[in-house]
This record gives sequence, structure tokens and C-alpha cells, in this order.
Amino acid sequence: MMSSRLRPTLAHLSSLRMMGTVDPRTVAAKHRDLLSATLAFEDPSAFRVKSWGELLRALGVFRLCSFPVLVNNCGKLMALARTLLGKRGFSLLLRPTVYAQFVAGEDEREISQSMEKMSLLGLRPMLAVPIEEDLGESTGEKRYDDNMEAMLECVRMSHSNAWSKDPMMQLKITALLSPELCVKLTTLIAQRPCELDLLVRAMNGEPISFPGLDEKDVAHFLCGLQRLNKIAEASVNKVRVLVDAEYTYMNPALSLVTMAMMKKFNKDGVWIWNTYQCYLKESRALLSEALRLSKTEGFCLGVKLVRGAYMDKERKLAEKKGCPDPVHQSWEDTNDSYNGSLNLLLEVIAQKPECYRIIVATHNEESVRRAAKRMEELGIDKDGGSVCFGQLLGMCDHVSLTLAKEGYAVYKSVPYGSVDDTLPYLVRRAQENRTVLQGIRKERDLLRQELSRRLRLGLRGGS
Ligand SMILES: Cc1cc2nc3c(=O)[nH]c(=O)nc-3n(C[C@H](O)[C@H](O)[C@H](O)COP(=O)(O)OP(=O)(O)OC[C@H]3O[C@@H](n4cnc5c(N)ncnc54)[C@H](O)[C@@H]3O)c2cc1C
Repeated sequence: MMSSRLRPTLAHLSSLRMMGTVDPRTVAAKHRDLLSATLAFEDPSAFRVKSWGELLRALGVFRLCSFPVLVNNCGKLMALARTLLGKRGFSLLLRPTVYAQFVAGEDEREISQSMEKMSLLGLRPMLAVPIEEDLGESTGEKRYDDNMEAMLECVRMSHSNAWSKDPMMQLKITALLSPELCVKLTTLIAQRPCELDLLVRAMNGEPISFPGLDEKDVAHFLCGLQRLNKIAEASVNKVRVLVDAEYTYMNPALSLVTMAMMKKFNKDGVWIWNTYQCYLKESRALLSEALRLSKTEGFCLGVKLVRGAYMDKERKLAEKKGCPDPVHQSWEDTNDSYNGSLNLLLEVIAQKPECYRIIVATHNEESVRRAAKRMEELGIDKDGGSVCFGQLLGMCDHVSLTLAKEGYAVYKSVPYGSVDDTLPYLVRRAQENRTVLQGIRKERDLLRQELSRRLRLGLRGGS
């Protein structure tokens, strides 16, 4: 195959170097060209591993996603379809189509089947329990305890099934701690910074007092920290827990709690990770502060680097409040911010790979190529554990499969659950990723090329 033929071998490169007549800059440039060619993501053979049904389903779903009116109104359309068809009819419509494209399954048997298939393709699952809450949706303590049980189950499944080496899962703090409390905490810590040790002590079961919170809030905070502590205790040395970033009006509280978890559990390894949204103007400062804290407080830092999913809502909210827009003005600015943070992290990783880790969580081919090139320049191992890549299940498989084929560690973020449970997640994901979904033309072209190849082979009587 073209891509593997283009892959330079170490022996080949060192022989060029040993010839002594070749300018090292020429070798480096050649090497870069070869890397760009292998990661051009233009090889439809990445899809050879897919069945006919999977190719047709992906083409159909992406075709639907190319109509902005459908993506923008998918919440309303799904609600209407559910009313007209009833629960069973709606499930029959969704399960073989949108659900099968973006969700792993409902029970452990179905999830296992999807995950085993994924492992065979060289991709690693990163399970995500699709539970989250926003302001005004808070539920009682019992519901948060149930969510904790669901997450403990996620830790167990990720670990015990051995679908991949080095399993990871995603965690949303607002599934365990009320968004209202997170907003209050965000306001409080802006006025008076909070010691990580205070939260570590609370996780260890010590009663804490938190100035500014009333008795009920403190009690709920303690319960939330205990829930997080239980999940972290269950996952440490087994499953890496990646905490999601959410909205700016609560992110500082989420980060505070996550840093406290890092302080407690990341002494000798990177088990708890935080997410940094590069669309935020302050993202670089937040990342630098995290790097500083990891040094002064003595913990290892894991970073999920994303562009950010809540741009429209952040902008609307800032406008409503008359505050400056927290999001960069243009995609190009977000891109510069992403590249800058990526570079910074790769450099610290090259120096101390045992202390820092990153998942380059993006569907953007250029970002992926940039990361791969920089890894090469800095001598970071493709699959050494300190750098990996992440995409969402069902999206940009041409990127994920090519990376996996080239030997990089690639995770797919995998939601699971019933049609009803995953519906709000699917709707939100479709809307936050609508630019990606609508621009998924290349993946559709590659899928079509693979289908035509098979049809031609079929007509010729090949297999
Ligand atoms: C494994 C994984 C985990 C994720 N976890 C989280 C998470 O915890 N929290 C979270 O918020 N998101 C998360 N995301 C979603 C992510 O933030 C992006 O929404 C999504 O990946 C699209 O960005 P991209 O880099 O893939 O694609 P691109 O097409 O390169 O970029 C699209 C993104 O650029 C930004 N953008 C677009 N237009 C503009 C504009 N005009 N001005 C400024 N910026 C703009 C937006 O962030 C938009 O989502 C995750 C994604 C993945 C793959």
C-alpha cells in the first residue's frame, strides 16, 4: 500500500545519514515530506476493514448531517419523530442508523461486541457515560449516587474487559456535583483562592468548612467529593479518568476539584486528567497555571487538549450579560491557540514523559499532522504512552484508522446507553460538532471510493 511504502524506516534514514554526503537538513525535510504523505488521510484503504453495512450506514448518516437545517434542528426533529412513532418505533428507526453510527450499544454484551471490533482495528475505546447536567436540571443526592454507580460500572467495564492496553474513560463532574454548586464555587474561588489540600482532606473523609457556602451546600460538596474519590480510587492503576471541560461559568470549580484529585492520585502516574479548551482566550494562561501547580504541588499532569464544544452558548451568554466574549474571535485564532498549547505540552513531555501526558483530541487533520511532526522532531515515541490521539466514535474514521495503522495510540470517545439515555448527548454532540459534521466531505468521498472499489471487484468476480 502506498502509505506503508512511503513510511521511512529508521535503517533507511540512518543509512542516509551515515553516507555522510547528505545534508542533515535534506534528510529532515525528506522525512517530513514522508510523514506528510503517510498522514495525508487520503487513502480509502483505511475503510477496507468496514463491512458493506457500515460503509452504507456511514454514508447515509453523513449525507443527512450535511444538511444544516437537519443538524441545527435535530433535537426538535427527534422529539417529533419520537412522539409520532412512539418509543418502540423511534428506537427501531434510530438503532440501525444514527445510534449505531455514534453509540457503542446498550448493555455490556453489545458494548463488548463493538469494542472488540474496535480493538481489532487497532483503535482503543474511551468509554463515556453520557450523563451531564446544566443549570436548572439538578437532581437529588440519590440521582448523583446512581450516576456514581454508573461511572464505577464504566471503570469496571473499561478495565476488566481488556479491550485495549492502557484503558481510558471520560467523566463529567456535573453528573456527580450539582451545576448550581459549581457556579457558586466558581464565584467564591475567584474572590479567594482555595487550597487543594482542603479538598484532598475532604476526599479523605475529613469534615471541612468552606467559607461562603451554607450548610446544605457544604454537605452536598462533601458528598460530591466523596463520590469523585470513590471513582478515582477504583480507577487508579487501572483506568485513566479524563475529566471533561464544560462551560466557563463553572469550569474553574471543575478544574479545582480535578486538580485536587490529581494531587491525591497522580503522585506516581497520570491517572486523572483535565481538559483544556483552546477556543477560550484564557486557555493558555490556564494551561500554564496547571503546569506551574503540577510542579509546586508535586503531581503529574494529564491534559485532554480540545478546541471547545460550547462556543455558541458561551457567546450568547456573554452578550446577554454584557461581558467580553470569552471565546477567540475566529477559528484561526482558536487554531493558533491550539497549536501553541500543543507545542508547549509536547516540549514538556519530551523533557519529562513520566510526568506529563496529552491526548490530542481533535478531528482536525492539520492539527494531527502537526502533532505527529513535532513528536518526531522531539523524539517522542508514537506509542510510548505520553502522547495519544482522540476522536469521537463514528467520526473521522479515516483519521483514526490511518493513525492507528501508522502505529500511534488512538482512542475513540465511546458513549453507550439506551436510545432514550443517549439522545440528549447525541443531539448536543451533533450541534457542537456541526462544523465538523458538515465538512465531513472528505470522509464521504473516501467511503464512496471504497464502495466503488468493492463494486468494481464484485463485477469482475473478485472478492
Ligand atoms: C475525544 C474528545 C473529547 C472531547 N472532550 C471535550 C470536552 O471535554 N469539552 C469540550 O468542550 N469539548 C470536547 N470535545 C469537543 C471539541 O472541543 C470540539 O468541539 C470538536 O472536537 C471539534 O473541534 P475539532 O478540533 O475536532 O475540529 P475543527 O473543525 O478544527 O474545529 C472546530 C472547533 O473550532 C472552534 N471554532 C469554530 N469556529 C470558531 C470561530 N468562529 N471562532 C472561534 N473558534 C471557533 C470551536 O471550538 C469548534 O468546535 C472533545 C472532542 C473529542 C474528539
